[in-house]
Amino acid sequence: MIDFNIPPFIGTELEYVKEAAQGHKICGDGPFTKKSQKMLTDMLQVPAVYLTTSCTSALEMSALLTHIEPGDEVILPSYTFCSTADAFVLRGAKLVFVDIRPDTLNIDENRIEEAVTDRTKAIVVVHYAGVACEMDPILAIAKKHGLKVVEDAAQAIGSTYKGRMLGTIGDFGCLSFHETKNISMGEGGAIILPTLDQRDEAEIYREKGTDRSRFFRGQVDKYTWQDFGSSYLPSDLNAAYLYAQLLDYDRIQGDRMRIWKRYHEAFLPLQNEGLIELPFVPEYCGHNAHMYYLKLKDLTERTAFIAFLKECGVMAVFHYVPLHSSPAGLKFGHFSGEDRFTTHESERLVRLPLFYGLTEEDQETVIRSVFRFFKR
Ligand SMILES: *Cc1c(COP(=O)(O)O)cnc(C)c1O
Repeated sequence: MIDFNIPPFIGTELEYVKEAAQGHKICGDGPFTKKSQKMLTDMLQVPAVYLTTSCTSALEMSALLTHIEPGDEVILPSYTFCSTADAFVLRGAKLVFVDIRPDTLNIDENRIEEAVTDRTKAIVVVHYAGVACEMDPILAIAKKHGLKVVEDAAQAIGSTYKGRMLGTIGDFGCLSFHETKNISMGEGGAIILPTLDQRDEAEIYREKGTDRSRFFRGQVDKYTWQDFGSSYLPSDLNAAYLYAQLLDYDRIQGDRMRIWKRYHEAFLPLQNEGLIELPFVPEYCGHNAHMYYLKLKDLTERTAFIAFLKECGVMAVFHYVPLHSSPAGLKFGHFSGEDRFTTHESERLVRLPLFYGLTEEDQETVIRSVFRFFKR
C-alpha cells in the first residue's frame, strides 16, 4: 500500500533529541527552541517567532492577542480545519463563514466585506494547500473597518504572496509542525509576530500569564503573574526534532516540489480533456508543495475514485467537511451569503500521496492508477 502521508524524517533528528536530553534541558524555551526560533525569524524576516505546542495553540494566542470578547464576530472560511474556528469560539466569538473561491479554494475576498458588521473583530484567512489568499484586498478591507487579520498558515511554511512570506502579512501568523505538515516535530507550531507591538503581551499569554521572558531579558528583576495565560511552549525535546528538519529545510521542500511538479505535468492531459481539474496557483504566488489534489466531477465519482485507487494499492483521501454544516458549526456560527462553492468543491476534491521520500516508482504507480481510472 502506498501511504497517503509519512511524516518527514531526515535521520539526524535523534542526535539532536539526544543532545537535548543529555543537556538536562527538556522543558520549554531551551537551546533548541531558541535556535529553531532564530532560524524561523531569519527565514521569515520578522522580529519574533515563538514555537508553540501546535498551530491550534498559536491560533488561540492570536485570539487572545485580538482581544476577542463574547459576542464578537470573526470572519473565516468554512472550508478549513476546525482549529481555525475553535481558537475563537473558546473566546466566545460568533463565527461568520464566507464562501471560497473555486480556483484556489481560499476565502473569496470579494464576499468578505458584506459579512462585516459592527461586531466584527477579525478576519481569519487560511492559505489552503500553501497557496496564498488575496492578501492585498483583504488587508484593505481590514484597514477600512479596523479589523485584525490572522493568517492560518498551518500549511504554508515558505510560501509567498507577491514576494512576501505567508504568515508575516497580517497581524499574526500561525504555522503548524504537525506530522502531516512539510516540516514536523510531531505536534507543534509557531506564532509569527510581524511587529513587536504586542510582543510582551504574547509572551505573557504563552507563559502562563507571567512576564518570565522579560525577566530573562533582564527587564524586570523578578517574574510575576501578570494576566491570564496558558502553557503554549513545547518541550525542547520536540524543538530539537524540529531543529534537525529546519537545517534540512531546502532538501525537504525541494523533494516535495519535485513530486508536486511531476504530478502536475502528468495530469495536464486529463485536465485538457476536461476529466479533472488541477490545483491553480496565481502567478504572483509561490507555493510550498504542501498538497497535491485533483477535483473530480462530483461526490459519486470521487467515492468511486478513492475505492479504485485503494484497489490499486494507493491511499488517496478527501479533505475538509465544511464547518458550517457540522454540529459545532451550526451551534457557533452561520454562513454569510450563498454557499456556491464551499460544499460543492469539498465534495469533489481528493488528495494524492505526497511526502518527503515518496519514491519515483511509487509515484508512477499513483499516476498510472489515476489514468487507469479514466481508462487511458
Ligand atoms: C493542520 C492544520 C491546523 C492545525 O494544526 P495543529 O498543529 O495540528 O494544531 C490548523 N489549520 C489548518 C489549515 C491546518 O491545516
